[in-house]
Amino acid sequence: MKLIDEFRDPELCRIVLEKIRRKSSRSITIMEVCGGHTMALNRFGIPSLLPDTINLISGPGCPVCVTGRGYIDNAIDLALRDNTMVCTYGDLLRVPGSESTLEKAQANGGNVRIVYSPTQCLDMAEHSPETAFIFLGIGFETTAPASAVTLRRAKELGLRNFFLYSAHKTMPRAMASIIHAGVKVDAYLCPGHVSTITGIKMYEPLVEQFGVGCVVSGFEPLDLLQSILMLVEQYENKGAAVEIQYTRAVRPEGNLKAQKIMNEVFEASDAWWRGLGVLKYSGLKPSPSYNHFDASEVFGLTTNEPADPPGCRCGDVLKGLLKPVQCKLFGIFCSPANPIGACMVSAEGACQSHFRYANT
Ligand code: SF4
Repeated sequence: MKLIDEFRDPELCRIVLEKIRRKSSRSITIMEVCGGHTMALNRFGIPSLLPDTINLISGPGCPVCVTGRGYIDNAIDLALRDNTMVCTYGDLLRVPGSESTLEKAQANGGNVRIVYSPTQCLDMAEHSPETAFIFLGIGFETTAPASAVTLRRAKELGLRNFFLYSAHKTMPRAMASIIHAGVKVDAYLCPGHVSTITGIKMYEPLVEQFGVGCVVSGFEPLDLLQSILMLVEQYENKGAAVEIQYTRAVRPEGNLKAQKIMNEVFEASDAWWRGLGVLKYSGLKPSPSYNHFDASEVFGLTTNEPADPPGCRCGDVLKGLLKPVQCKLFGIFCSPANPIGACMVSAEGACQSHFRYANT
């Protein structure tokens, strides 16, 4: 496909890489906070091409990885109740709860259905009024609008058997909390898909308060290299700023329609993040006029967040304090075939993407 080929052009990549090498004179740590970027960087071998002055670290941008084991435990509990059906995206199936997974619960007769969108769950709810359908809402500002639209539709239809169990999260507070936690981050490679919805204003406090550069990046090799070059230029000469590299998809103001519906359907709530703990107002739950769809309220779910398995360092990986290969379980006891932590389960997890593409 021509469009993709252009963003993978080896000669253009070589030119940008050469510019990065020429301009990068002092050590800079760049954190990517999008699981899609983690995967793309490793898949295209970009870290190994960069000069030693550039240290790439992964952050808390994989939604499955930051979701707690307590949430999975509750989802399993819902799946094992009478007359319920838990609907989920497939990447959550193998994420470990404290003792089991949704996949194992399904094998043991639990009511779990993989869906590709929340509207599939809604359709099933419409046709089976005797069953309570619970959609597991995972993801950042990218997937939250789909959940919001579905809740609005459920309200229009007057459904009483459709619910959202929300683990939706929003990015800005997590990015700030990484810096507050004392992690050395000089620049953020900002998430492309999230920014199509939110726009870029939310990154301005990171520049103003912490002097951290922010560039919203696309996902192809040329996108990533150009974004790294823009961050290096900010760091070396221009000073920290918010810039968009991914201009073919991201507008400064974001998607106003999606923002409007999210503001109508959701309100900010405190949320637990693996590695970061509870961050105030960093989650999304149904607003008061939608709270009869809130599975947490309706089914009385409380979360006791169990610790990760012994030896698993997912929390440190998600804060950028540890590279996946530095976890003693990496590749020996923990692999995509036998994952111990959430970062090895998801295709966007730092551990799985290092295992598949880097493994060094
Ligand atoms: Fe956790 Fe496995 Fe990654 Fe270690 S390698 S941090 S156990 S997911």
